[in-house]
Amino acid sequence: MRIFNFSAGPAVLPTTVLEQVRDELLDWRGRGMGIMEMSHRGKDFSGVIAEAEADLRELMGIPANYKVLFLQGGATQQFAQIPMNLLAGRSADYIVTGAWSKKAYKEAQPFGAVRLAGSTEADAFTRLPRADELKLDPQAAYLHICTNETIHGVEMFDVPEAPAGVPLVADMSSHILSRPMDVSRYGLIYAGAQKNIGPAGLVIVIVREDLLGKASAITPGVMNYAVMAEHGSMLNTPPTFGIYLAGLIFKDLKAQGGLAAVEQSNIAKASKLYDAIAASGGFYRNPVELSARSRMNVPFTLANPALDADFLAEAAELRLSGLKGHKSVGGMRASIYNAMSLEGVDALVALMQDFAARKG
Ligand SMILES: *Cc1c(COP(=O)(O)O)cnc(C)c1O
Repeated sequence: MRIFNFSAGPAVLPTTVLEQVRDELLDWRGRGMGIMEMSHRGKDFSGVIAEAEADLRELMGIPANYKVLFLQGGATQQFAQIPMNLLAGRSADYIVTGAWSKKAYKEAQPFGAVRLAGSTEADAFTRLPRADELKLDPQAAYLHICTNETIHGVEMFDVPEAPAGVPLVADMSSHILSRPMDVSRYGLIYAGAQKNIGPAGLVIVIVREDLLGKASAITPGVMNYAVMAEHGSMLNTPPTFGIYLAGLIFKDLKAQGGLAAVEQSNIAKASKLYDAIAASGGFYRNPVELSARSRMNVPFTLANPALDADFLAEAAELRLSGLKGHKSVGGMRASIYNAMSLEGVDALVALMQDFAARKG
């Protein structure tokens, strides 16, 4: 029996997709072997990666002048790869709205000039910067943002306006595919797979073609977007199993009605949880400003932290797992990605109400 897995990542995957993976693990479509055992250059795997890309393009409405890359090294490797590929001897702007964008900003520093264009750290990352607080460089090579801060539970519903000609680069790791996004607003989008896409080890990069070919001369081939694009993400052996699984997730999202339908389900789940926090009369608290509350990652604290351990123990008895908050924030965090069911959120809300009634 499966648990309700609220882990921030690696995270829950749809049971039906995992069942299909199980069924195909030893013998994919009668080939007498599984995807993991196949040549990445063969006709079968070429079909798998092409279909995954086509389905992702359809789901996200990715314009034709963007490349889709299936890479390795996680989102963290992109923190370095982005300046290597895009800085081109210029300066880049970073907006810091939580732990992940702060890491991206720090990791870019050895590669050249990077500027802090805005930060909400003084407010403990509980809000997003207002437009008038940003100091944007109109000459920047790019403007980097994280559109969903997984640890602090801060999501951008209005993306900052970059100066004309400055490409927006977004870390969407923890909310990609959670709702429709206008890809054409971005120069580059990247996302590690283990939140909303599939297994860890795969990272997807969606990059506008005019940004290719500016990499610094010491950029290794596997880290060079232009080279990887030229080779269809297969300069070397790609993470074949991850790409296959991601492809099944894309098909599943299409079958659900696409991202507009997925968004409705995510709104319903997040609303239930935030409503339960609001209705608890201060027993539970989410520190994030209303307009920036993430639909994917919901941190909350108990007014009395001495009760944290009891709460987690009772959750575990009910098969609710992964709720312990990140150490930098404390309390609890419920990650309610696409694959978390409404049933799982209902079970969590029921525990929260019952626990507060007994201990409040
Ligand atoms: C998880 C996460 C990362 C790091 O991903 P890795 O695959 O561990 O490198 C980066 N950014 C965001 C927003 C994340 O949620």
